[in-house]
Amino acid sequence: MARYTGPVCRLCRRHGEKLFLKGARCFTPKCSFERRPYPPGQRTARRRKISDRGLQLREKQRARVTYGVLEKQFQRYYQEAVRRPGVSGENLVRLLESRLDNIVYRLGFADSRAQARQLVRHGHIAVNGRKLDIPSAQIKEGDTISFTPRGQRSAYYQVVKETIKSKQVPSWLQLDTATLTGKVIAPPEVVPGQTHLFNENVIIEYYSR
Ligand code: SF4
Repeated sequence: MARYTGPVCRLCRRHGEKLFLKGARCFTPKCSFERRPYPPGQRTARRRKISDRGLQLREKQRARVTYGVLEKQFQRYYQEAVRRPGVSGENLVRLLESRLDNIVYRLGFADSRAQARQLVRHGHIAVNGRKLDIPSAQIKEGDTISFTPRGQRSAYYQVVKETIKSKQVPSWLQLDTATLTGKVIAPPEVVPGQTHLFNENVIIEYYSR
């Protein structure tokens, strides 16, 4: 259940782009990357040339950080992705997208994956009517995601009810905004540049060396 607990805005600056890890703040002038769009640490004039391997590593780190997954677990996703039939890169994205915390985020129940993770860990989320507090749980087609009775009693639930209509849900998910119940109706979509901002094939190359 380990997770990264350091400063997240630093990760955006390290990767040289906005990774949208902080929800609403990412769209305001308070965004650290907007204010300081250069790598953290001491600034030097020297520019290093990045090797192909370095570029692959960067892509892998970008994906890992986006979904808030630590290295060991990310390696397990890779192993599972190549074991499954089909295109390994797409399998990898589907495994990441099928995580419970990601689906809670995609449904608009949380502004960021980190917040979604917290909702899950605090017992506010139910899958098929039963509480599930494991953020990495794989959610399958046909599963429903809703708030537990405890979640529904929280003040946050009312906030979500008021704001949910302005959120967009991907086509592989269905959302009933009246009951705040989501359903997985198809396997996660894999459209580079839209569903995710990294190149999944480069990540497969990185691990298969
Ligand atoms: Fe990245 Fe969001 Fe922080 Fe901006 S506010 S640096 S996009 S995590």
